[in-house]
Amino acid sequence: MNEKIPGLYIHIPFCLSKCPYCDFYSSTSISAVPDFLDALCKEMEMYCNRFNSFDTVYIGGGTPSLLSPQQLESILTRVRENFNLLSNSEITIETNPADLNRSFLVSVRESGINRINIGVQSFNEKVLDFLGRRHSAKQAISSVEDSRKAGFHNIGLDLIYGVPGQDIESWLDTLKQAVAFSPEHISCYQLTLEAKTPLGIRYQAGEFPIPGEELQHEFFIKTSQFLEGAGYLHYEVSNFARGKEHTSRHNQKYWDHSPYLGLGPAAHSFQCNQRWWNHRSLDQYLAAINTGNLPVEETETLTVEQLRLEALYLGLRTRKGISLRDFKRQYHYDLFTEKKEILSKLEEEGFVSIQDGTLYPTQIGLAVADSLSLI
Ligand code: SF4
Repeated sequence: MNEKIPGLYIHIPFCLSKCPYCDFYSSTSISAVPDFLDALCKEMEMYCNRFNSFDTVYIGGGTPSLLSPQQLESILTRVRENFNLLSNSEITIETNPADLNRSFLVSVRESGINRINIGVQSFNEKVLDFLGRRHSAKQAISSVEDSRKAGFHNIGLDLIYGVPGQDIESWLDTLKQAVAFSPEHISCYQLTLEAKTPLGIRYQAGEFPIPGEELQHEFFIKTSQFLEGAGYLHYEVSNFARGKEHTSRHNQKYWDHSPYLGLGPAAHSFQCNQRWWNHRSLDQYLAAINTGNLPVEETETLTVEQLRLEALYLGLRTRKGISLRDFKRQYHYDLFTEKKEILSKLEEEGFVSIQDGTLYPTQIGLAVADSLSLI
């Protein structure tokens, strides 16, 4: 399992302001950035004997585009000093359209970052306003255009659907505007309102309704049909690529149990059958590193059975599906024989298909992928 080349995730835990729907860990204390960057370098050094090579780097957050191009470049320099970053590596940065201008983008591209994910969320001003985003639709458009002009040949747009007040038609408008830029990658996430977020609290107080199950299903199917019709491959529940070569190599590592190292607060790592994660709070993270300790909050060792259940859950979320032979070899479980009856029922109902020894979710199967994995 571990002949696979690991990926590196770097969490930049800062945002200028907190979006009211967001449940990710991030801090608005931007003055702590220099201390954080020092700690991040120390954390890399702590892992340089445990991880050797990487062929993907994903700088996520938070809002990595709050850092200066020089700070981003120095992070990559330290990665190269501590690890072997392979020459064909996919190096991604997550960005907010409000932070992107030509000179930032050109510098970032020159630092070796070759893939940009832009948190557009919507091209509709009302939706952006409801989501409390700090960018406008106009900024979203110019950020995509400027990224292309700055030399990015691998651009991903993140979009959100199922926003209160949004109908299918206005969502399709956003999708039409998105494909007009021919981005290599599009991620479409359904809005989920966690109870403790400001929007979650307003929802619970009855201020607005959210789309019911039927409408959510319609959003999902219409999205898939529209983007497939526009030439995109619906390769994972929330992800679409303009051809196989543009699927996210880094995210694939999470889906197929490849090893990965996560640095920064709240980042998760996986190697062999171990998963561990860092303290969520920036203060705890800094305190651990500054006393010479790994900032790990907890480590779990997964049994073969836990790994098997995860592999089933993750595999049924991707169009690549599950190779029944590899599954048997890795997890000592003959899925085809053990689940013969339920699999043929699901195949008859059109949720999965089994071809050439691989179990695939269909388009309607992807819509209910989480339930499929309960077989
Ligand atoms: S910019 Fe992203 S990480 Fe920051 S608060 Fe908004 S959604 Fe969360």
